[in-house]
Amino acid sequence: MNARELRRYSRHLLIPEVGLRGQERLAASRVLVVGAGGLGSPALQYLAAAGVGRIGIVDDDAVDETNLQRQTIFTEADVGQSKASVAAHRMRAINSLVNVDAIPIRFEPSNARELVRLYDVVVDCTDRFPTRYLINDACFLEKRPDVYGSIFRFDGQVSVFCASSGPCYRCLFPEAPPPESRPTCAEGGVLGALAGVVGAWQASEALKLLLGIGEPLVGRLLLTDMLQARVRIVAFDRDPHCALCGELPRIQSLDPALYGAPALDSPVPEIEADSLDDALREALLLDVREPHEAVLGSIDGAIRIPASQLEGRLSELDSAARYIVACRVGAKSLWAVQRLRDAGFTRLQHLRGGLLAYAARHEEFEFF
Ligand SMILES: [Zn+2]
Repeated sequence: MNARELRRYSRHLLIPEVGLRGQERLAASRVLVVGAGGLGSPALQYLAAAGVGRIGIVDDDAVDETNLQRQTIFTEADVGQSKASVAAHRMRAINSLVNVDAIPIRFEPSNARELVRLYDVVVDCTDRFPTRYLINDACFLEKRPDVYGSIFRFDGQVSVFCASSGPCYRCLFPEAPPPESRPTCAEGGVLGALAGVVGAWQASEALKLLLGIGEPLVGRLLLTDMLQARVRIVAFDRDPHCALCGELPRIQSLDPALYGAPALDSPVPEIEADSLDDALREALLLDVREPHEAVLGSIDGAIRIPASQLEGRLSELDSAARYIVACRVGAKSLWAVQRLRDAGFTRLQHLRGGLLAYAARHEEFEFF
C-alpha cells in the first residue's frame, strides 16, 4: 500500500480488527450490488469509500424525479439517465482506487448465476420480491453470501443469507406473496432516511463478511421501526424442509417460472381496523403473521397459522366459517386469502392495514 492509500484509509487502519491486512483484503475483494436505489445509494457509497477493490452495480432503470427523496447518490441533473452508469461515475469520484462495473441490465434467471459468481459478496438492494428470491437462490447455488435489506414506510429489515451453513431467505419466507399484495416503496411509500440506515447497515455487514470479523447477521433478522425508534433482532434457523437449502431441495436451478407470481382473482372484501372489534362478534380472526412477527402477542381468541404454514394446516380451519384474515401490515393477509379461496373458503375478509393499524388505535397492543 503506497503513502496515498495509507493516508486515505488511515481511519480504517487504526481499527485493530481491520488494520493494514484488513484494508488489503478489502482491496482484493469484489462486491455485487443489485439495485442502485434507496438502499443501493448508501451501500455503494460506503463500499466505494471503504476501498472494496471491485464493485458491480446491476440496475436497468433510469433515474426518476421521485427517486431523489431517498436515492442520495443521484442529483436533479441525473433524471432520465442510467442509474448504473451515474452511480458508477459518482463512486469513481469518491474513490479512484476502486474498479466499478456499471451493469445496466435487468438481473434475471438467465444471467443471475453468472453475475453472482464474479463477486465474493452480493448485496440485495432491490425492492421486488421475485428478484429477492432470485438473488437468494443464485447466491445459494453459487455459494456466495447474500446481504439482504428491505424497507417499507418506517420498517426496515437486514439479514445475511446463504453464508456457509446459515439459513437462506426461503427458510424465513418460503414463498413470495403476489406483487399485488405486497406494495413496494413506489406504491406504499418509504421514509427516505430509513433507506440510509438500512443501506449503510448492509454495507457494514458486507465489509464484515469480507474482513471475516465480528458476528454477521447470519440466522438473525434485524428489524427496525424508525417511527418508534426501536430495533429488534429475531433469530431463525435453517429449515430442513426449505425448498432450496433443505435436506431434499426442490430448487436446483433458476427456473424462470419460480420468479413470476400469480394474480389475485378478484378484490378481497376489506375491513377497517376501527370496526374489527364489532366484526369479531360474528367472525374469527385468522392471524397469519410469521412467528418472528408475532412474538409480542396477538388478539385474544385469534387463530394463529403463519402464512408459510397455511397450506399444510388448512384442516384446522372450517371452510364454512367466516374469517377475518390479518397479518402485520395487511399484505400477507391478501396472499393468504387467495390461498384460502383456492381451497374453497368463501366467507373471507382481510384487515386493511393489518394488526399494526389496529394496534395504532389500541394502546395495550404492541404489534411491532
Ligand atoms: Zn433455506
